Amino acid sequence: MRPQLNDVLITAVLPVYNEAAVIPELFRRVSGAIQNSGAQQEIVFVDDGSNDGSGELLDELAADHDFVRVIHLSRNFGHQAAVHAGLAHATGDVTFLLDSDMQDAPEALERMLLQWQAGYDVVYAVRRERPEQLWKRILFAGFHRFLGAISDTPVPTDAGNFSLIDARVVDEILRLGDRDRYLPGLRAWVGFKQIGINVRRLPRYDQKPRVSIRGLWRLAKTAIFSFSTFPLFVFTLIGYAALGVFAGLACFTLFCKLFTSLAIPGWTSEVLTASFFGAINALGISMLGEYVVRIYDQVRGRPLYLVDRAVNLRGERCERRGLTLAERDECYEQLLRDAEELVEMTEPAVHADGQPATEEPERGAEG
Ligand code: UDP
Ligand code: MG
Repeated sequence: MRPQLNDVLITAVLPVYNEAAVIPELFRRVSGAIQNSGAQQEIVFVDDGSNDGSGELLDELAADHDFVRVIHLSRNFGHQAAVHAGLAHATGDVTFLLDSDMQDAPEALERMLLQWQAGYDVVYAVRRERPEQLWKRILFAGFHRFLGAISDTPVPTDAGNFSLIDARVVDEILRLGDRDRYLPGLRAWVGFKQIGINVRRLPRYDQKPRVSIRGLWRLAKTAIFSFSTFPLFVFTLIGYAALGVFAGLACFTLFCKLFTSLAIPGWTSEVLTASFFGAINALGISMLGEYVVRIYDQVRGRPLYLVDRAVNLRGERCERRGLTLAERDECYEQLLRDAEELVEMTEPAVHADGQPATEEPERGAEG
């Protein structure tokens, strides 16, 4: 069960790189959307090394509103790094992540919150329409479909950063050790309850993307190499195909050599050596790749699994190996006694329903 929205703190996280022209309007709309929801707000702007006065504008906003926080990075580190910095500083029960260029309509928050309240931990926007140039649209669509087809973990198609993420999922995403980060992939990787909602992607307010084509290309490579071993598999396939070619050539050249007079001196051995070592090369590369992939996995140290919830696990202290069931029961009882003692020590306490302990508690149905 989620709390009532007026008890919820929503943190909006916005990476900013030279967006001075739109910051006042952006702030008004994001803050307005959170206010409309009835929740409390925190807005974390990450100034990713802007040099157009965005940083100063953000500082002014922070001076006027104590729920606005600004993280100034020491230089331009790129979109994904800025998003990571923002998530790391978000303290809300739920984080609303969006770009600062008006492509992600803050008003979508209302629909996202409905899903969060229904129990979803991650609500991501699926961009049904993109107002970009045709070639960009084709490349984006191709990339998303290719990644979806080859990725080892299913990454939702046409979903970018724009999303609403529950605090515990934010924590898990931050804990992942990947240095090259593709947030839509990491967000999908951690699991929990996720749902996509259709959102129209709006045009950029100034038609000048801050992420360069080179940046997009690097992000696409990060996405593919972080979430798929398919490129390696291609080499394995090439190796097997080359082995097949070698076997065919071996039969053909040996036949020519032994049973016909077609083979010129040196031809058989040359063809056999070249095709044999060609196949061995490709297979060798794919084998080395298998080790590299394992080293990569070991180094980035993603957890083997994440727990959503555990049933009948009453406290890690009592779930140790080597304890008998009776000892466990004794341990649980001790835990309960400790907890009760702690409550007594911290009087005046507040009851679960929020009433101070000084008031006589109402007797429940069981009393
Ligand atoms: N951005 C950033 N650092 C960068 C590039 C972009 O923080 O080095 C921010 C930018 O201000 C915007 C968001 O990341 O809020 C997305 O940038 P852009 O609109 O250029 O990306 P696109 O929508 O083309 O993917
Ligand atoms: Mg944009």
